[in-house]
Amino acid sequence: MPELPEVETIRRDLARVLIGQKVVDFKADKPRLLRSPLKLYKIKLVGATILSVKRRAKLLLFELSSDYVLIIHLKMTGQLVWRSQVGKVRSGGHPIQGVDQVPNKFTYITLKLSSGGKLFFNDVRQFGYWQLIPKRDLLRQLQHYGPEPLARNFSLNEFSRRLGRHANTTIKSALLNQTVVAGLGNIYVDETLFAARVRPIRKVSSLKNKETMAIHQAIIKILKKAVAARGTSFNTYVDAKGRSGSYWRVRYVYGRPGQKCLKCGQVIKRTIIAGRGTHYCASCQK
Ligand SMILES: [Zn+2]
Repeated sequence: MPELPEVETIRRDLARVLIGQKVVDFKADKPRLLRSPLKLYKIKLVGATILSVKRRAKLLLFELSSDYVLIIHLKMTGQLVWRSQVGKVRSGGHPIQGVDQVPNKFTYITLKLSSGGKLFFNDVRQFGYWQLIPKRDLLRQLQHYGPEPLARNFSLNEFSRRLGRHANTTIKSALLNQTVVAGLGNIYVDETLFAARVRPIRKVSSLKNKETMAIHQAIIKILKKAVAARGTSFNTYVDAKGRSGSYWRVRYVYGRPGQKCLKCGQVIKRTIIAGRGTHYCASCQK
């Protein structure tokens, strides 16, 4: 699943081509990917101008001139492909092996924009969704998400307070919980805990203050680096220009089981924590 850096990369790429455009047509072949009634898209999305493209956690938010917000979650295999009238293509999300034209058999939603370009939503496994909500309901809709880790208000105090609600779980599980901090997934949690030198199996209650501080700092450092690298590609993601993110080349533990730790030379281990494949160095992480 794309995590914060990947969704942020897609957001930036799509913002460049979509802001200021008017939606002139909307077509959905799989109504179950829509979390709002079909007719609402015809009324509030068609005819509206896209004012901004924002992100909260792993959600893309398209602010519309109709005072509604279109929410798109790519989930496991969603992909957004923009094709301009002259055929220039930008896509972001899950690449589909062997399928490079749009629309294709996995294209379930199509938006036509005033420039003549189209935005296609492809989703092999159909876990993604589109939702349309009034702008005034947005805060309430998003209130269960924890702080944005790259926002200024992501303080150590707030992070510790939220972690404290999960004292009896593992730190791996707590960091995957979107109410503690928004936007982290399996890859960046493993990388964060390596950078903070904390083993993923550790109980939250066992963390010393300086370890909590190191994790807080590592979250920010790792995510900034990953956004700058346009995310990580691991089967399930290409950026909105169809390119792989380069973070994959600079990762330390994720997806490297059996290989040597780049810091100490010990073999990277893999185990299952919180139901997720988890990678760590037993020598660097305590
Ligand atoms: Zn090591």
